[in-house]
Formats: sequence, structure tokens, C-alpha cells
Amino acid sequence: MLKKPIYLDNNATTAMDPRVFEVMKPYFLEHYGNAASTTHVYGWDAKEAVDEAREKIAGLINASPKEIIFTSGATESVNLALKGVFEKNRSKGNHIISCVTEHKAVLDTCKHLENLGAEITYLPVNSEGLIDLSSLEQAIRKSTILIAIMFANNETGVIQPVAEISTIARKHNVVFFCDGTQAIGKIPVDIQKEGIDLMAFSSHKMYGPKGSGALFIRRKPATVQLTAQMDGGGHESGFRSGTLNVPGIVGMGEACAISSKEMPVNISQIKYLRDKLEKALLKLPGSFLNGNKDHRLPNVSNIAFDKVDGHGMMLALSKHIAVSSGSACSSVTQEPSFVLKAMGLSDELARSSFRFSLGRFTTLEEIDFAIEKISRVLLQCRESSKH
Ligand SMILES: *Cc1c(COP(=O)(O)O)cnc(C)c1O
Repeated sequence: MLKKPIYLDNNATTAMDPRVFEVMKPYFLEHYGNAASTTHVYGWDAKEAVDEAREKIAGLINASPKEIIFTSGATESVNLALKGVFEKNRSKGNHIISCVTEHKAVLDTCKHLENLGAEITYLPVNSEGLIDLSSLEQAIRKSTILIAIMFANNETGVIQPVAEISTIARKHNVVFFCDGTQAIGKIPVDIQKEGIDLMAFSSHKMYGPKGSGALFIRRKPATVQLTAQMDGGGHESGFRSGTLNVPGIVGMGEACAISSKEMPVNISQIKYLRDKLEKALLKLPGSFLNGNKDHRLPNVSNIAFDKVDGHGMMLALSKHIAVSSGSACSSVTQEPSFVLKAMGLSDELARSSFRFSLGRFTTLEEIDFAIEKISRVLLQCRESSKH
């Protein structure tokens, strides 16, 4: 069998940690009860497992277990937060502030709400991918009901000034929603310190199973008001009806517990490898880093290679390395990345940019291999375009 390319696309999804899989297994085969069944041991077992997972997940972000609502993933959590706040606050206002470099889950939900009468301000970013705080404050109106800014960007890893954003939101009494999907499990996130009111995140970006996610809904000093988007049996305090995905939730709980425990080690190991890769690639002629170097996730490096056909380079690379390019990761079409374009890159440079995202299972051998392959492929692509 052919050797598979090495995996440097951990921001798209992570491999499941085998320890997570082991913990999930009995909840498919033995403890298959419905967590809402109160009349027998099958239901009690499932409920107990869900409660334990909820505690572990809350623990990772310093929330209380009651503040965690289970969903099918970050996309659903984003939809619940944005649509739920909009629907609940129709009488208060219709204005939402977001940002041009948000994930499609946020941008497409905003578009949906615009069709329903919402007014959205999309804040721009500077060349390093950061929003301007005074522009944020100036954008707030009487009718502003929500600020939706992500924690860390999926393409560049750039981390927004979350605590400063929440300070502004609180000063003006506006709810602050944060898409934490790329940050949770990778860097410490404390919803108290950061002052976040609503936060979406997902299990499959942190070594847990796909199809399992959560929305943090602040309860103290007051519960954030939002309308449920899924009606049914009133599960999850009425915020999200539907039989709970017990194995998925158990897996997400274990993934969070492992992240809590191993985060310092993971960060230093992953950052060491990322920096090694980045340093080598930035030595290649015509290459530069996309995004702020310091306010950034430790596992991502988004690099532009000037004067090379991005598509050709992607094709040549994909035999050896699984990565995302600035033309493929945003959509099925070959549109250049809107995130990189918002930072001022030309279509051509966005297309010849690559996102390398490392993970817990990335090895030194893989990074050495990647450096050698990328260097060689870049040289070959530039050579061939000369003829
Ligand atoms: C992956 C991702 C999502 C979507 O998460 P799913 O669980 O796959 O729905 C949302 N926001 C960001 C920033 C992401 O990286």
C-alpha cells in the first residue's frame, strides 16, 4: 500500500486520541441508554456519564457545568447563539457586530439574519489579521444586541484581543459571542477572565469525535437570553432538544480532560515543531508569514510563497503532505481565501499561501520530512514555470 501523506491539517480536524475512543466504546455497546430515561439503570448510567462529561468540559474553560449545552458541533452552536440572540431580542434591536475574517459558520448565519432584517457591521482587519478596538467601540449603536468575534482564526491562528473586546461589550451592555473552536484545547481559555457570554466549540478539533460540540451560555450574574433553535423534548434546559449523543459527549469530555492535563506539554512540543518548520520555510526565497507572529496559536503557520503557481504547488505537495491552501480551504470552488484577502493579500498570493497546522501526534521526523519536501517542491514549481 502507498504511504499516506503526513497530516499537517489539524485545524480542519484532528485524529481522535485513542484514549478518547476507548472511553467512548462502552457507550455504544453496553451503556446504550437514553440519558433522558429516568425509570431504569440504562438511563441512569447514560445520565451519569453525560454529567461527568459536562463537568470535564466546563472545567477546561472555567465554566459551571450548567452553562454547557451539548450540540452536534460548532456550526450548530454558532447558529443557536446568533439566531437565538437575534430572535430573543427583536424588541431591543437588530444590530450585530462581527468581523470579515470569521468562519463561514458565523458569516453565513449573519447573512441569513440579514435576510430576516438584521443589520450587520463587519469589522475589517489589519494586515496582521487583527481587528481595531476603537473601530469596534465606534460601531456600537443603541440597537446593537450582539458582538460576534472569534477567539483564534482557523486559517492564520491569529488570536483576537478577546478580553479587551469583552470589556467594551460589557461597558455598552452588549452580549459577546465568541467562536472558540480553534482555541479550546490548544491554549488556555478561561471564560471568566476573558469575559465571554456565549462560546461555541467542537470536539473534533481537539482529538474528540466528530458530530459533538457545545455552546457555553453564561448564567452568572444573569442567564444570557436566547431562543432555542431546535424544539422537541426540552432537553438541555430547553436550549437544545433532541436525544443526547451520549458516546459523542463522553468522548468530548475525555478529550477536554486530556487537554486540561496535557496542555502545557502539548503546547511546548507543538510550538517547538511549528517554529522549526516555520523558520526553515521562511528562509526560502520569496516566502513570508501571514498573520501576527505573536498573537497566534502555537500549532499553525500560514505561509505565502511568492512567484509560484499555488495550484501546481498544492498538487505536487499533496502526494507528501496533507495541508490546506489559500485557495481550497474556504470553499469547494477555487476562490482565493477571503481571510487572506481581507488582510491585504492579492488573489495570487492568497492562492500560493499554505496553512500548516500541527497537532499532538505530529513528530519531529514528519517535520523534517515536510521541510525537505516543501523546499524541493517550491524549487521545482518555480523552475518549471520558467520554461
Ligand atoms: C471548524 C470550525 C467551525 C465548525 O465546527 P464544526 O464542529 O465542524 O461544525 C466553526 N468555527 C471555526 C473557527 C472552526 O475552525
